[in-house]
Amino acid sequence: MRRAAAAASWVLLSGLLYPAGRDTIRGFDSVSQAAEQKWEQLARATPEPDRMRRVMERLASKPHLAGTQQSKETAEYLLAQLREFGLEAHIERYEALLPQPRARTLEMTSPAAFRAKLEEPAVADDPDSVDAGVIPTFNAYSGDGDVTAPLVYVNYGVPADYDYLKSRGVEVKGKIVISRYGGSWRGIKPKVAFEHGAVGCLIYSDPKDDGYYQGDAYPKGPFRPPDGVQRGSVMDMVLYTGDPLSPGWASETGAKRLAPGEAVTMMKIPVLPISWADAEPLLRHLGGPVAPESWRGALPFTYHLGGSPAAPVQVHLKVEMDNATRPLYDVIAAIPGSEYPDQWVMFGNHHDAWVRGASDPLSGVTAQLETARALAQLTRQGWRPKRTVMIGFWDGEEYGLVGSTEFMEKHADELSRKLVAYINSDSNGAGRLAIEGSHTLEAFMREVARDVPGPDGAKSLLEAKGAPRDFHIGPLGSGSDYTPFLQHLGIASLNLKFDSEDGGVYHSVYDDYNWYMHFSDSTFAHGRALAQLTATAVIRLADAPLLPFEFGRLQATVSGYLDEIQKLSATHARVDLTAVRTELSRLGRINADFESAFGRALPKQKRTQILAGLNQLLYQTERTLAPEPGLPGRAWFRHRIYAPGKYTGYAVKTLPGIREAVELNNPAEATEQTRQVAHALHALGVQLEQATKTLGTL
Ligand SMILES: [Zn+2]
Repeated sequence: MRRAAAAASWVLLSGLLYPAGRDTIRGFDSVSQAAEQKWEQLARATPEPDRMRRVMERLASKPHLAGTQQSKETAEYLLAQLREFGLEAHIERYEALLPQPRARTLEMTSPAAFRAKLEEPAVADDPDSVDAGVIPTFNAYSGDGDVTAPLVYVNYGVPADYDYLKSRGVEVKGKIVISRYGGSWRGIKPKVAFEHGAVGCLIYSDPKDDGYYQGDAYPKGPFRPPDGVQRGSVMDMVLYTGDPLSPGWASETGAKRLAPGEAVTMMKIPVLPISWADAEPLLRHLGGPVAPESWRGALPFTYHLGGSPAAPVQVHLKVEMDNATRPLYDVIAAIPGSEYPDQWVMFGNHHDAWVRGASDPLSGVTAQLETARALAQLTRQGWRPKRTVMIGFWDGEEYGLVGSTEFMEKHADELSRKLVAYINSDSNGAGRLAIEGSHTLEAFMREVARDVPGPDGAKSLLEAKGAPRDFHIGPLGSGSDYTPFLQHLGIASLNLKFDSEDGGVYHSVYDDYNWYMHFSDSTFAHGRALAQLTATAVIRLADAPLLPFEFGRLQATVSGYLDEIQKLSATHARVDLTAVRTELSRLGRINADFESAFGRALPKQKRTQILAGLNQLLYQTERTLAPEPGLPGRAWFRHRIYAPGKYTGYAVKTLPGIREAVELNNPAEATEQTRQVAHALHALGVQLEQATKTLGTL
């Protein structure tokens, strides 16, 4: 009886439909819901903070960079753990270009002599910060080069900064630029520098953005110490991710490979990340115009732009990479589905780290391992997921999402057919809950957050987040392993985490167990909450009789993006967005029919072949948003609603095709992209109409 009542009664909150019963779960009838709640509760009882702490302590005891023996050992440890839990698991081996530095030199030759240290010394009371077996500070996929040239300060190194330098008459061509971290993803900085004719690029951590200006530096506080360096990839990931030498196919032993010169995602000039201690003497000597206020960092002198021909700061920069191919070890586990083995729900987290990586990625790895243990435990208590559950521990994420991309490329056809959703995690901290992802899963995640207790054990995650009626998830750009699934294949994806204060040690030797136990989630209460959140979402998606995809939130969210572009269009390229608006209204009508059919069908659903096809229609709606050939100039990125920005890197651009064309004042391209978005939304509507019809036949 209650089930019929729940199906018939919906309430309107902030313009969107929710089922009226507080604890109804979308996609379940009352009988299956009661069983579901029992399994979910059992799963949430399993994760143990002290297990997470012990796994972190163990895996963070050594550096475990992708391509090294320690990364292989990390993978083997995870494999053994999964098997001990009773799960079927194996390692998939790939090999990719994973360069390590052969030589690095940075020196100032005039007006004063200075040689940069390029090292991260140990800090007091932290034995793990000793620099033994640690990869030197470098940027992966830097070009090789040995250059001597005058230095110019380019602020964050984004296109607008170069416009400003031009307006001040500062020439960049033939120079070495020094940029501070922040304002964009790091890979954008050398790319834009190269586009402006620079011959080398330094990226340093200014204490204003990343260091003592933010708070006490490590070991006194969590922030970056003077010699702390942010390693990281500068692969041009907005074109494609994964092995630069095998775009579009898996880089297995014997697979064909491009020559390094043909790989467009590799940088063409030498790039080196440095600490503020190494940057200070260079910046202090710079002449030329005084930097505008917004360009100034927190170092104790007046910032200048450089470019003074009278007294240039001459810098010698040498970077030589080994450009070697190295092995990658993805750990994959599966729990076979009992009713729909060919529908998969997958969750993943990377296991490789720049150095010890207590926060990035082990805080996420340890939670994911507990999620896996919780699911394994359930199977021993009699749980059989309806759909197959897949677990991935990825290698090579830090280099450019390499392990996950190669896995996706190897299994692309199968994933496109079978993968219902991909749930990602990465670093986890003790901050606020942050959920990002596909808006077709927003209503779903609201219910999951409602049903999972907060880290303090009291309130639900939804209540802890504040304003539970106004729950929204953010869009995904790039920066972790969801990218190949979401943005290339159009698989509905989520990224789950509690915000972390790990900025101060991010990608440095100091991201270690000692730092984590002093300055992050030292009780692992948030780690446990993440494990519980992921387990609940996975079990629910694996078991739902009707998959809980919902389209009203998508429609409302895309309408909002369109309004933003409309405003932007007033000052940039004009574009007529009517075609997209028409499709959104049409989608609204189709969705209303779909929702009433969905509510009526729930009490009637049976285990039929119809249901398998219907659910496939639902989870493949996201594919219609990612048609070939993808975005202009970067066809690999196919999703028409979410992409990393061409000149922002990780940060998302929503409706990227239209938005970037408007921003670049290209009305013809904006019109074409509008047509393509309208077309994609139309295709989604057609698929949803078909689903509505099928619901009627249940
Ligand atoms: Zn990470």
